[in-house]
Amino acid sequence: MNSPLRIEEDGVAAEQVWSVVTAMVGELRQRVPRMLGFPANLAWDASAAHSLLSMLINNAGDPSEHDDSGNDVKSFERAVLSWFTGIAGGDRDTYGYVTASGSEGILFGLFVARHRFPRAPVYLSADAHYSVRKAATILRMETVTVPCRDDGTMDPSALARLCRRHRDARGGRPGDGAVVVATIGTVMRGAVDDLPALREAALAAGGVHLHADAALGGLVAAFCHPEPAWNLAHGADSVSVSGHKLLGCPVPCGVVLTPRRYLPPAPTGQYLGAPDHTLGCSRSGLAAALLWCRLREAGTRGVRETVHRCRRTAAYATEALAAAGAHPERFPGALTVTFDRPGPRTCATWHLATQGDRAHLVAMPHVTPQAVDALCADLRGS
Ligand SMILES: *Cc1c(COP(=O)(O)O)cnc(C)c1O
Repeated sequence: MNSPLRIEEDGVAAEQVWSVVTAMVGELRQRVPRMLGFPANLAWDASAAHSLLSMLINNAGDPSEHDDSGNDVKSFERAVLSWFTGIAGGDRDTYGYVTASGSEGILFGLFVARHRFPRAPVYLSADAHYSVRKAATILRMETVTVPCRDDGTMDPSALARLCRRHRDARGGRPGDGAVVVATIGTVMRGAVDDLPALREAALAAGGVHLHADAALGGLVAAFCHPEPAWNLAHGADSVSVSGHKLLGCPVPCGVVLTPRRYLPPAPTGQYLGAPDHTLGCSRSGLAAALLWCRLREAGTRGVRETVHRCRRTAAYATEALAAAGAHPERFPGALTVTFDRPGPRTCATWHLATQGDRAHLVAMPHVTPQAVDALCADLRGS
């Protein structure tokens, strides 16, 4: 085997390594204009921040705590968390950290929830992200699937019925509680679950922990008028958001937030000299610093304008797809547009995500009206 990727006994000159990497990135970048189906912003180029790659930057342990290692950028992380806390309706009591992904944020939310209600099942909608199930499996929590309404949101009356059934199966005593995972922007349809209605519905179970999985849709909802209920101020007990989706951080990451009083007791990291409530120990200082670069450069206004521009592209795509006879559907305010699933060649060309007889595109910042027109031309031709 003579692949340039094979790692051998003898190393090679660094230039040889970088030329392979440069060629690979060039190939990836060529695909970007046709990447319509997945919810990640591929338009932010952070290569000017390359000095961050010149050494290991490790934000081990809680972001609020000084640790003894000295090679952290927790001050950047705290600035990022402070911005997200404001956007997500938190306050001085809000704890949070920069996670490795939206999914780690879900796992952390359920971890906190199980500490509050150790015997409560996890109620999730049929359209929830599969990471919710994975997190429940890791934590050995029972799951109950709640059907969706026609618009793709979790059905509150079905949730109430299932909570009552669970309570009645235990002799009618409330007390186990309910852990409910609401999705703010479902994967396939961009639907936003109704937080207040879900909390009300789950009360039959006793105590409720409501986690908002807002991986993509949190920052979309935050800049919507009127703003749908999605965050801590609107009744969520924990919220997780992805950092690489709408914001386009070039390293997968996320943010999770919850009131400090809900945190399970944490060990003090032995060699850190700092308390550590996070799920790991070492965490990416690179991701935290890049998120800071992104937010500091754009400002809140820049993020808002990006969301508005994406929403205009989604509206444009809905009209164009209707004219092409593809029966588009779009949840109000969403960046996701579903339509009739085209043939496999068109799906592959445009990197479309599909489910059953439907496909979707997500109007991320790199998705242009010209690309939408070209997709529609393909649909007409196939
Ligand atoms: C993308 C997504 C996730 C998973 O987030 P990652 O950052 O990819 O781990 C979870 N839930 C929803 C609704 C998502 O869109």
